[in-house]
Amino acid sequence: MTVTTRFAPSPTGHLHVGNIRTALHNWLLAKQAGGRFLLRIDDTDAQRSREEYVAAIRADLAWLGLVPDGEERQSARFDLYEREFQRLVAAGRVYRCYETAQELELKRKVLLGRGLPPIYDRAALALGEADHAAKAAAGEAPHWRFMLDRDAPIEWQDGIRGAQHFDPAKMSDPVVRRADGSWLYLLPSVIDDIAMGITDVLRGEDHVSNTAAQVQMFEALGAAPPRFAHEALLTGSEGKLSKRLGSLGVAELRQAGIEPEALVALLARLGTSDPVDPVLDAAALAVSFNLAHFGRAPARFDEAELHRVNAGIVHRLPFARVAHLLPGGMGEAAWEAIRPNLEHIGEAADWWRVITGPIAVPALEDEDRAYLAAAAQALVSIGADWAALTGALKETTGRKGKALFLPLRRALTGMDHGPDMAALLPLIGRDAALARLRAAS
Ligand code: GLU
Repeated sequence: MTVTTRFAPSPTGHLHVGNIRTALHNWLLAKQAGGRFLLRIDDTDAQRSREEYVAAIRADLAWLGLVPDGEERQSARFDLYEREFQRLVAAGRVYRCYETAQELELKRKVLLGRGLPPIYDRAALALGEADHAAKAAAGEAPHWRFMLDRDAPIEWQDGIRGAQHFDPAKMSDPVVRRADGSWLYLLPSVIDDIAMGITDVLRGEDHVSNTAAQVQMFEALGAAPPRFAHEALLTGSEGKLSKRLGSLGVAELRQAGIEPEALVALLARLGTSDPVDPVLDAAALAVSFNLAHFGRAPARFDEAELHRVNAGIVHRLPFARVAHLLPGGMGEAAWEAIRPNLEHIGEAADWWRVITGPIAVPALEDEDRAYLAAAAQALVSIGADWAALTGALKETTGRKGKALFLPLRRALTGMDHGPDMAALLPLIGRDAALARLRAAS
């Protein structure tokens, strides 16, 4: 069977770092196996779902390079859910209930007071057809629960958490459909996973108890459950699930100069024992992606680390990838000279200005001014060749190290540090370099 994964966001907000990580891991899992990665828009909740978020989710995935091999929308699949639901009705695996939220809360409190697990008591199973008819006549519509098989222990081998075991006798029959006919998340997700041939469900560990119920839903619908893996959630660098992490999304990261390759390289490894390397090619990350390397402890997302990875990525980006983001006129040689000094592509403009000028004339000591006058003279015959120029000046002036290089760098760039002068000097060019040395001397 072709490995098929899905990313199933609800379009009720923008993707944040945690969702992006889930999407990426599903993409990696599929690509690694030469399989399919699907985007499933979980928009059964018409009130909260918004078209602008659907568009934003697509755009974010495209920016990240996580192009889905197919897209489905739950709101277009209600007929299928109805048909499958009717099969469960006929098989007696879903049943009608009428308790209000307050009644359920009261039952819960009574059970907890007696030291019992607060699970639904299945009181509604005692209702006969006459009772249901009377409720209908009184205008009371039922909500529906899935009837767990309390005699069938729930087990699965989780790709990250290992052997999982749940006792259905200690679980409430989950509500799968509201009194107004609308769907809760649990059942449509299972119906879709079956219909779409999903082989691997990889999601956050906040879904573990959903999985326990869903395992029985797969079986009730006559399908074998897929492989499941649940990853530990992300925490902020301060240790807990920060508010910031819950809202930090692509727009803000882009704004901060983060490249998609950096986010992908970091999130592909976060939570694993593998090192985070600035790898440009996501397909290479897929090859070494391994669920077994994920730990059970929460994974820490550190923005400072993301910026470090970003710098590593920027240092490796080829000119063709960044050309449209660079100042007009800046060519490949300039990009390659400047690239090692950047944390963000946006900073390239600052160094381009250093190359093209004008630059501020630095304040220098008298002896350095004389030295720069000699340098200007040497440049006239040597040209814009850093090694030849400094080699000649070393000979004639006896200077070396910092005394040899720093006044030149200051005069030529107006700065104390920066890209390799051997690469910069030819870009500044002989004439401009001469003018700068003369201005400083
Ligand atoms: N829409 C669900 C969510 O956002 C999908 C969970 C799943 O992957 O099954 O949590």
